[in-house]
Amino acid sequence: MERDTTEIAILSGKGGTGKTSITAAFAAMAKDIVLADCDVDAADLHLILQPVILYEESYASGVKAAINPDQCTGCGLCMDLCRFDAVERINGQYAIDKFACEGCGLCIMVCPENAIKSTLYQNNRLYFSQCRFGPLIYGKVGIAEENSGRLVARIREEAKKKAREVQANVILVDGPPGIGCPAISSVTGSDAVIAVTEPTKSGWHDLLRLIEMIKRFHSRIYVIVNKYDLNKKITKEIEEGLKERKIPVIGQIPYDEQVIHALIAGKSIPEYRKELSINHNLRTIWNKLLKKIVPVKLN
Ligand code: SF4
Ligand code: SF4
Repeated sequence: MERDTTEIAILSGKGGTGKTSITAAFAAMAKDIVLADCDVDAADLHLILQPVILYEESYASGVKAAINPDQCTGCGLCMDLCRFDAVERINGQYAIDKFACEGCGLCIMVCPENAIKSTLYQNNRLYFSQCRFGPLIYGKVGIAEENSGRLVARIREEAKKKAREVQANVILVDGPPGIGCPAISSVTGSDAVIAVTEPTKSGWHDLLRLIEMIKRFHSRIYVIVNKYDLNKKITKEIEEGLKERKIPVIGQIPYDEQVIHALIAGKSIPEYRKELSINHNLRTIWNKLLKKIVPVKLN
């Protein structure tokens, strides 16, 4: 019988809040999970989880135009009409800069020699891997790619397929920082979102923007204040601000320099040093999450 799979996305308003270390720690504490690293512009969960790549594939992000030099007579019409300045002339030859081309297709329509074709641009990579905590799906966008939201959607789709296959209870999504297209793509349709923040003025500002974005997609939101003891005054302000907005703080995590050492060692925090008190905070948060979100009891 198929089990319900609960998808939990872990996001932050900006980079460097400790989101990936927290995701890895939850992965170490969980059972029957599938992991999806949707931080496709700077995927780094695999650096901690060190998975074995089972297979990888290129992922087309869109179409780009390409000129066949044998058919081009050099009329220059494509260059005159491309409003993205993607057509260049090098040593008398017309060519298309694939990084600038938006794939609008205008040049293909206007070329009198039918010398321009659209080609699928396979610049992104998708990795299917297995780590010590379960399957991990992740991706990397190619240089100058802007379509990372689509790659995120594909990673989540593959993670769901894998979760059905292995009958996982939870999909843990390590989302990208910020509120851009890949972040939106990471939260739409997920069962809950964990927003990780730090006790700084800018952290609070970024968190508010993130919450506004998440709310548009009706996900349940829980906040973790990481390194809360670095500024207890701001931590309190964040808690009060969230209370006013009826957003629950699911837990606080103290600053611990061992987190960096765990990262460098390629280990999750619980694996690195079991006795660290920070593990107690992480375990409490994870158990609360299971109780609140996951329909099947895991641990
Ligand atoms: S419109 Fe066609 S023929 Fe003219 S320069 Fe461009 S590719 Fe060459
Ligand atoms: S497809 Fe559009 S953006 Fe790309 S080169 Fe042609 S006109 Fe420019």
